[in-house]
Amino acid sequence: VHHRIVIIGGGFGGLAAAKELRDPAVQVTLVDRRNFHLFQPLLYQVATGSLSPGEIASPLRGVLKHHPNTSVMMAEVLGVDVDRRRVILGHQATAARSELPYDSLIVAAGARHSFFGNDRWESFAPGMKTVEDALQIRRRMVMAFEAAELETDPGRRREWLNFVVVGAGPTGVELAGQIAEIARYTLRKNFRRIDPRDASVMLVEAADRVLPPYSPDLSASAQRSLERLGVTMMLATTVVDIDAESVTVRPPEGPAVRIGARTKIWAAGVQASPLARALASATGAELDRAGRVTVEPDLTLPGHPEVFVIGDMNRVSDGRGGVQPWPGVAQPAIQEGRYAAVTALARIDGERSTKPFRYDDKGSLATIGRLSAVADVRGARFAGAPAWLAWLFVHILFLIGLENRLAVLSRWAISFVSHGRGQLLITGEQAAEHAGRAAATSTPLDAELTSTMARRT
Ligand SMILES: Cc1cc2nc3c(=O)[nH]c(=O)nc-3n(C[C@H](O)[C@H](O)[C@H](O)COP(=O)(O)OP(=O)(O)OC[C@H]3O[C@@H](n4cnc5c(N)ncnc54)[C@H](O)[C@@H]3O)c2cc1C
Repeated sequence: VHHRIVIIGGGFGGLAAAKELRDPAVQVTLVDRRNFHLFQPLLYQVATGSLSPGEIASPLRGVLKHHPNTSVMMAEVLGVDVDRRRVILGHQATAARSELPYDSLIVAAGARHSFFGNDRWESFAPGMKTVEDALQIRRRMVMAFEAAELETDPGRRREWLNFVVVGAGPTGVELAGQIAEIARYTLRKNFRRIDPRDASVMLVEAADRVLPPYSPDLSASAQRSLERLGVTMMLATTVVDIDAESVTVRPPEGPAVRIGARTKIWAAGVQASPLARALASATGAELDRAGRVTVEPDLTLPGHPEVFVIGDMNRVSDGRGGVQPWPGVAQPAIQEGRYAAVTALARIDGERSTKPFRYDDKGSLATIGRLSAVADVRGARFAGAPAWLAWLFVHILFLIGLENRLAVLSRWAISFVSHGRGQLLITGEQAAEHAGRAAATSTPLDAELTSTMARRT
């Protein structure tokens, strides 16, 4: 009988584990609620119309088609029974439930954004984690320019042209930079009543600098690049309220300020998959404020050497009462996925003492816009065009599938020459809903149009 390994999640960690487990000695099942792996680092390019979703996603069955020992199962994981060694599944197509037994389990269900207890903000300021999130942000952003073009009241028009990004980590910086580029270059000459260059992009950050995990000189360089693009920095500033028309912030000094802005994007804070909490309570493992479960130095749950929890869901114990400082990004998830696979195989072979996981930090890269990025690669810190080229190279290298690599490379080449973005479309059910709602209510412009038509007939 083959040793059964179940992997929960086909993201960076889970997929790295699955690739490493191409071994006839084990029978692998990869479960994900989606039928594709999503390359999240380029999600903001979908939100800002540079790339289409298919170019940054790869169907899991296709990626693993040459792994005969591996099957892919599209299902929602509802829970794990660690005592009976079973994963509880909900089947999306039929709403049926089933159980999947395992001998070893690798849990890599990732994280979602967190609104720090203010969940009602989500409907006004979407976060970005899924393809749907990115398309919603794209729709809201493009719709805001359309609405501004139609708005006759200067105050309300200003609200449509104000864009607020909350959180100046890599995602917030990338989004703010891209929206500013769209307003400045891509949409130039596209409108007749507004000048998109009048748009104001504000970046709100609670820390006193952008890209807080980076060194101060790289933060300063990123800030200068953003300012050159016209982005307004609101540092050491916290968000205290968000509604449909505005965001209220508390600056470092003085009273709270309400900013009229229809488009808000949430790029602050993440919360681990709820499976982390369930696993912690089943095994007595610790859980931190971001909902991550603390695992042993070999990435397993205390008392359960057969259950690995990896990637954005975990914090790794240093074995001395503390935790490792590794960031919640793709590289640790990939390396942990490989480690979990190799360790599980070694244990099947009877190896008892396995080395603890060690993270090999290859560095970090964040891009701001055209020819503008910051890089910290093994202690070498640089910015500008060289960092941007490094960013470009790494992202093409890590993107899954030759077809996606070629598609993204050619799109970037075209955009670089033309400043254009082929994907600035307003699509989806909500777009149709918007149109329906607008038809049902009479705005001054509607009235103007109706009376003109009435005069004509
Ligand atoms: C917008 C954005 C930009 C980012 N940019 C960068 C970057 O530039 N560089 C970088 O290194 N990192 C970046 N990251 C972080 C990086 O993407 C994560 O650290 C990485 O994806 C973590 O890998 P993971 O395997 O833990 O989880 P994920 O890659 O998130 O994978 C989790 C998988 O589990 C599945 N899943 C979750 N719950 C269930 C369930 N209950 N049932 C079934 N399936 C489930 C999901 O569908 C998903 O496929 C970014 C993240 C985001 C959101």
